[in-house]
Amino acid sequence: MINNKKQLLSASPSRLTPKVLSLTYSVSLLLSLFLFWPGIPAAGESLMVGVEEGGQQQTGLQEIWHDPEATADVASANAHYLAGDFQPLDSAGSTGLKPGAFWSHFVLHNSSDRTLHLYLEYVDHQLIDLAAYEKHTGVAEAYREIARFSLSDPFSARAIPHNRFVFEVVLPPGASREYLVHYGSDKLGFVFPSLRIWDPAKLQEEHTFETSSVAFLFGGFFLMAVFALVAGIATGEKAFYAYTAYSISKIVSWGTILGYAHQYLITNHFHWSYMSMAGAFSIASGLIFARMFLQTREYARKLDYLLLAMLGNALFLFICALFKETALTIISITIALLLYPVLSLVGLLRWHQGSREAAVFSFAWMLLVVGLVVQALRDIGWVAHTPLNYYWPPVASFVEMLTIMAAIGIQVQRLRITKELAEQQYTLQLEHSKMELENLVQERTKELETAKQLAEAEAKTDPLTGIHNRRSFISEAELRISLARRKEQPLSLLMIDIDHFKVINDSYGHKAGDEALQAFAKTISAGIRGNDIFGRLGGEEFALLLSESRQGALELAKRLRADVEQLHIAMPEGDLRFTASTGVAHLELEDTVGTLLHKADTALYAAKESGRNQVVDYDDIDFSQKLADGH
Ligand code: GH3
Ligand code: MG
Ligand code: MG
Repeated sequence: MINNKKQLLSASPSRLTPKVLSLTYSVSLLLSLFLFWPGIPAAGESLMVGVEEGGQQQTGLQEIWHDPEATADVASANAHYLAGDFQPLDSAGSTGLKPGAFWSHFVLHNSSDRTLHLYLEYVDHQLIDLAAYEKHTGVAEAYREIARFSLSDPFSARAIPHNRFVFEVVLPPGASREYLVHYGSDKLGFVFPSLRIWDPAKLQEEHTFETSSVAFLFGGFFLMAVFALVAGIATGEKAFYAYTAYSISKIVSWGTILGYAHQYLITNHFHWSYMSMAGAFSIASGLIFARMFLQTREYARKLDYLLLAMLGNALFLFICALFKETALTIISITIALLLYPVLSLVGLLRWHQGSREAAVFSFAWMLLVVGLVVQALRDIGWVAHTPLNYYWPPVASFVEMLTIMAAIGIQVQRLRITKELAEQQYTLQLEHSKMELENLVQERTKELETAKQLAEAEAKTDPLTGIHNRRSFISEAELRISLARRKEQPLSLLMIDIDHFKVINDSYGHKAGDEALQAFAKTISAGIRGNDIFGRLGGEEFALLLSESRQGALELAKRLRADVEQLHIAMPEGDLRFTASTGVAHLELEDTVGTLLHKADTALYAAKESGRNQVVDYDDIDFSQKLADGH
């Protein structure tokens, strides 16, 4: 069994070492073995009692009689006793699940020299009724009733207010007294036919300690419930609410089972079925919490159906208890407890799937299971009834809840880390997208810029020759003129017009004319400096702006004229050759682009007039001639 577990545990990828867990399980098992100690002293002929009784002594199990019909009164019980029907109980403490009633016979002997007032306390809480009889040793020997309890009696009917049945016996010094005690379990139930023997003050002391310990446990359950409730409100996580309900259910069920509900809440009409209902509430809320916490619906589908079936059984248990169906209630509660280990297995499975908190949950649940197994072993009479196994289940429950708290802590931490990672991822993604977007915008801006520059260049350029068009030439010329004026630098304008261009077109075709225009522009461009401005004003008329004085400009004009003259363009009809006429003007103080162009145009006209293929300087034109020509 332990080996199997070890294998199961070591197969898990989680960080909680399998060693630690299997060790814990082993320790738990050892502890439960430890509970097999002999709890009840063998009863002899009579039990010696003294002044210091502190609950260690219990009335024996040597003389027990089972009355399956539960019909015997004390007289017939006594008759059975006298007939030798009272036999030692064949189990460790509990009669096991049996119908009817049990009778116990015992003798107490006061070994002290004082009159003893002793309290006899029923060892367990879940007894339906109890009646105690003392043998009257007088004239007529007969049993006299000294105490009678029923779970359904008002709590106030108890002479000694205790969550378990307690009654008083009085023994004169050196006296022996014989008792018959009737333990009733309604139709079917477990009975522990034994009573602890107490000095009243000692029982009081013990009871105070016990009650405050239980109050401590309940306070813990309550705090955990409140804590989970606040966490639930803060996070909206439903599992926290389920935990709150589960924690409260622990108070309700243990408070009811241990008898405090009867003592403080339902004091008048208590019924054993309330214990079962409280148990059903606890089982159901535990299952609901576990399903949420382990996310079985999402990750362990098949086992989840089993958990749902267990939930159904818890509901069935509640209904059976509600209708006080004794047998069905006992069957249902037995099924519920037998299936409890399933939740530990589900936890282990979820651990195997990678959930560390599931391992802690599984461990916590195992604690509870071990507690319940101990209780079951005690109930069926395999293990003696001891204070340790009596309180193990509620204490295991408490440790279980604490451990689950730790599991929740691990889960919350894991969720927080996951969330932080997701946030980091998201931020990175966002930054990446932002960068990509910025790059895209930059690229597009660049493209637009280029397109704009291209469009601007196109708008300034003559498409045929690739030099400045008229508009661009004029705006550039305006800038140059104002610059030259500011720096007092010379500026000259050449206006060049191809001679008889019409004839070229006519003889060689319009296309050849275009080629001639291109060749012309290329020749001129090759003959000037980079910062000179060369443009096509229209048709076969060009303009050239130079930062040159008169002398330089004229020299260049003449050189260009010669260059053009040298130009040959190969045509099928033979070489195409042409000349050009040039008018030159120089910037004067009052000149604008318009007046300068006009002056150059005038000089060009003069060049054409004087036979073409000429360079004429505006300043050289004869004034009278100009007037005569109307310029
Ligand atoms: P002149 O010596 O007096 O300047 O005579 P011309 O024939 O050169 O002058 P005119 O102004 O009479 O003729 C210019 C011709 O240029 C008219 C037009 O058909 C032609 N032309 C104008 N632009 C283009 C062009 O882009 N391509 C071609 N192939 N021909 C053009
Ligand atoms: Mg011309
Ligand atoms: Mg012309």
